[in-house]
Amino acid sequence: MLEHLPGDWAHTFTLRPKLLIADDQPVNVRALHALFKDDCDVFMATNGAQTLDLCRKVMPDLILLDVVMDGMDGHEVCRRLKADPLTHTIPIIFVTAQTDEADEEHGLSLGAVDFITKPIKPAIVRARVRAHLSLKMQGDVLRSIALVDGLTGVGNRRKFEEDLDTSWRHCLRETMPLSLVMVDVDYFKRYNDRYGHQAGDRCLQTVAKRLTQMLRRPYDTVGRYGGEEFACLLPNTPLEAATRIALGMEEGVRALTLEHLDSGCAETVTISAGVATLIPTAEISPAELLEAADQQLYEAKHAGRARVASALKSLTG
Ligand code: GH3
Ligand code: MG
Ligand code: MG
Repeated sequence: MLEHLPGDWAHTFTLRPKLLIADDQPVNVRALHALFKDDCDVFMATNGAQTLDLCRKVMPDLILLDVVMDGMDGHEVCRRLKADPLTHTIPIIFVTAQTDEADEEHGLSLGAVDFITKPIKPAIVRARVRAHLSLKMQGDVLRSIALVDGLTGVGNRRKFEEDLDTSWRHCLRETMPLSLVMVDVDYFKRYNDRYGHQAGDRCLQTVAKRLTQMLRRPYDTVGRYGGEEFACLLPNTPLEAATRIALGMEEGVRALTLEHLDSGCAETVTISAGVATLIPTAEISPAELLEAADQQLYEAKHAGRARVASALKSLTG
């Protein structure tokens, strides 16, 4: 029956979509798995708790969710996924034997995008899944564009706020240190005044690229915090390691040897950086980490620029 379906899935998506199937009847899971295994990476769960767990781990592009399950039912799973900022954009299709209108309405009111009734009709399930996956992928592309800084290609301020929120929660859960490095280009107003705004733009692009090259781990991020200021988030990184990375950034930018004859602290473009580290707790907020890093950046500027300051000690690059 698959031959009757329009198009070839494999060419529709650049990445293989991730599909999560949750149903407490293994026979149903198997049937759906057989239907999608060639086109998607299929993940399977047979109860509510497992579904939530797997969701956070694999971040599927779509969930086919059984309504009636032992223990936590599909409605409750849906409610929880929609309440979690990490998972609330994942589309959910309810798959259920209940066919009355009130049930369908209830499912949709919880945030599901669609409703499929059992026994499933393979062609219809495939068509609907395909449509919703396509929408999800389009949404992902748009979201990622909305989070990129147009000039430098690194994450923008909004992306930084999202990353800070995600890293904060992660480090809070795991009782891990979260480090923040705030970077600011020295005497950048004078750079623009002497070399022109376009040269200033190119300088910011080069600096952003250099900062990005200093990151080592997949969860480390650099974002453009504002004008000539960048923020670098380092989850699970203690102050000492973060300070070393900041020192590397300072040296890295200095090594670019971009001429800046009007700089008050060197003859080339330099940065100052402030480093702060916190182990998140429920009593403190991410704003405190920002304030602490800002304070260190102020110290670095005040001490003469082209250097790194961290609560560890004041260090010259
Ligand atoms: P300090 O060493 O104290 O940081 O001095 P500064 O001159 O770097 O700091 P200030 O905040 O006085 O000036 C920042 C300058 O950055 C002013 C602004 O025109 C420039 N700037 C901000 N965004 C951009 C941008 O996108 N492109 C260019 N070319 N310049 C920018
Ligand atoms: Mg500056
Ligand atoms: Mg500034």
